[in-house]
Amino acid sequence: MAIRKIVILGGGESGVGAALLAQAKGFDVFLSDRGTLQENYRAALKTAGIPFEEGQHSEDRILGADEIVKSPGIPSTVPLVQKLQAKGIPIISEIEFAARYTNAKLVGITGSNGKTTTTLLLYHLLKTAELNVGLGGNIGDSFAKQVITDSFDYFVLELSSFQLDDMYKTHLDIMVLLNITPDHLDRYKYDFQNYVASKFRILQNATPNDDFIYFAESQPIITELTKSQPRVYQLPISLQTNLSPGGYVENGQLITKNREHSFSISQSDTPLRGPHNALNMLAAILAAQSLGIANDMITAGLKSFQNAAHRLEPAGTINEIQFINDSKATNVDSVFYALSSMDTPIIWIAGGLDKGNDYSQLAELVRHRVKALICLGIDNHKLVDYFGGTVSSIYETRNMADAVAKGLELGQAGDVVLLSPACASFDLFKNYEDRGNQFKDAVQKLLTNDK
Ligand code: ADP
Repeated sequence: MAIRKIVILGGGESGVGAALLAQAKGFDVFLSDRGTLQENYRAALKTAGIPFEEGQHSEDRILGADEIVKSPGIPSTVPLVQKLQAKGIPIISEIEFAARYTNAKLVGITGSNGKTTTTLLLYHLLKTAELNVGLGGNIGDSFAKQVITDSFDYFVLELSSFQLDDMYKTHLDIMVLLNITPDHLDRYKYDFQNYVASKFRILQNATPNDDFIYFAESQPIITELTKSQPRVYQLPISLQTNLSPGGYVENGQLITKNREHSFSISQSDTPLRGPHNALNMLAAILAAQSLGIANDMITAGLKSFQNAAHRLEPAGTINEIQFINDSKATNVDSVFYALSSMDTPIIWIAGGLDKGNDYSQLAELVRHRVKALICLGIDNHKLVDYFGGTVSSIYETRNMADAVAKGLELGQAGDVVLLSPACASFDLFKNYEDRGNQFKDAVQKLLTNDK
């Protein structure tokens, strides 16, 4: 049989991982990236002897492939992808490719918000219980690279809608769908239903023996479930209704029950605050229960969990004013939960690149909880126009140091200065991490001056 030609589009973590796996499995591999590769990825390809190009796409060579692995950052609307589609060349994601080469049990976690927190938490619970588990998808080392030696019994995978779009046959044993709220619509022809359909691809190979954990108060999820009636064991989670089997919150207790096991813990015994994190924990607990983890291990794991940075991360306290870094809140729904998580007056730092935000979901919360709004973006008019009638103090800033200094100036003991932007960061910052780090640095500088 002729050696199959595989072309990898995109040379980031997932593309390079896919290239290494393809080579290990005997494919004729070529990697192409229109941009510039990071030095570590370039070195990895060279060491492995994998041919690649950067700064261009050699169409002839790419169109000669038997199969394409496309990195999630490349939209399917780019002309090259359109040409590949027209030629009928199969295009898959790195997840789909890697899943062919592992027998590990797979947990897939998706949603507009909460993926990283829930993925890291479930991974931590399984590690605490000493399972032989890997972490992959949108996070950490690529799944593909990790299956080269296929040494894990389980994988917890964070799946974005872009990865789901190019998945077809991957069977997930446990599927988690945390929520669906408008995001990334630029990649979905500005049609929310396309985005919903993409998220629901997580269920495409589900069987009645598999578990589906989802948020029961998410209307788009419920509408789609009613339409599609998937044959899968359903474990809904809720903030409002006592669901069993499933998970819910009652008087601060997180309570879950699956086919045979029950579990409960007080949220105050865990490090994660806010209703959104109650949901993330319920989802991770149910998934851990489905994998047979004992209650004492789940409790121990929940108590010792440390979330990734930039998600409601405490950044310091000055004059009894608490500064909180929620730079990862790049859409309206995540800000809704950030504001809901605070029980003190809020000085809210928001703004950046607006991805088509509808702020109406925030109107009520902002009216009751936000005492001042500090806009941090090049173009702030949408925020100023929307909240002009609701928040009496609105300020515009163009750099983090000014925004944080303004927060301190306006704050009184007991207030929170919350960076929760609702927008992407690329107008003023490299990325959300850069924005969050600048926030933390600015707070630290003021703290040092204060001493
Ligand atoms: P993702 O990986 O989906 O972007 P993260 O865990 O990184 O999710 O969180 C992104 C932002 O969304 C943070 O601001 C976080 O506080 C908020 N968030 C986390 N979980 C949820 C949830 N279940 N619903 C809404 N917002 C959430």
